[in-house]
Amino acid sequence: MVDKSFDNAKRAAADQSCVVPFYLTGEVASQSKPLIRGRLARLFSPAASILDRHAYPNNVSEVCAEMMGLAACLSTTLKFEGVFTVQAKGDGAVKTLFADVTSDGHIRSYAAFDDQQVAQLNESGSAVLPRLMGAGHVAFTIDQAAPSGGFAHRYQGIVELEGPHLGHCAVTWFKNSEQLAANVITVAQKTASGWQSAALFLQQIAEEGGQDSLKWSAASLEDEWHTAMVLMSSAQKAELLDATLRPDELLFRLFHANGLHIQPFRPMSDHCRCSAEKVESMLQSLSPEQRIDMSDETGHLVVNCEFCKTTRSYHSQDF
Ligand SMILES: [Zn+2]
Repeated sequence: MVDKSFDNAKRAAADQSCVVPFYLTGEVASQSKPLIRGRLARLFSPAASILDRHAYPNNVSEVCAEMMGLAACLSTTLKFEGVFTVQAKGDGAVKTLFADVTSDGHIRSYAAFDDQQVAQLNESGSAVLPRLMGAGHVAFTIDQAAPSGGFAHRYQGIVELEGPHLGHCAVTWFKNSEQLAANVITVAQKTASGWQSAALFLQQIAEEGGQDSLKWSAASLEDEWHTAMVLMSSAQKAELLDATLRPDELLFRLFHANGLHIQPFRPMSDHCRCSAEKVESMLQSLSPEQRIDMSDETGHLVVNCEFCKTTRSYHSQDF
């Protein structure tokens, strides 16, 4: 099933770091109503440059890369200007995992962790969420931008940190908030050109009311969902992360018999929102005592951006 937006997505997919939204109408060709929505996120250069700057241990980089893939995937739920944030807090070696994505596809991420505890885990095997983060919670936040600047509305869902991967927390969030079945897989790997990650998300679409001759029975919807789950689980890590395989080709390979409709892609880029103006206005808002507390003995004050590592230097007397 190919429509116009499929061609657009195909052309634009030359940039491999993007999110491709799509939907499935099911195996019956005459059916045109979307039954399942999906998104495929793949991050090559943004994951590589962000994690190269951070230079975290491999097990931390891996969960950070998966977090970015997940955030990119879910960020396309934004129907307005704003920011989508996923933040996990735990009591294990990794204390914080953070990624946010703007409606323009600007992505950022960082992790906070205990060096010694993480080094001990390095020796004992691969990165698994509960071993790295312990107990805690994950917050999914949507901040809608106000026309005048700043944020007008905040929507937030919080779930317990559980399951072997971050995706399990997202599935719980969708079940709690929308009562709809969802599934997501996240993968990440380090290559010669750096870290890369991908996420594939599928969700049942809520049945609308009214008399629809094409309205599906609960049983056939369940069948379609089951088929989609089987196809989703057949996706190999190697193909999800294969930069030579275009995202639309990958989706076609997986879902071509299930009424695949590909929608316009959204490019993703490594882009920080910090600026000298924002830092200066933050410093301006502090009391002189607070600025002196942040300064060294000569009055110099340094502000580092934890996302892009930009260092900005001031003197407490500048304000
Ligand atoms: Zn920055």
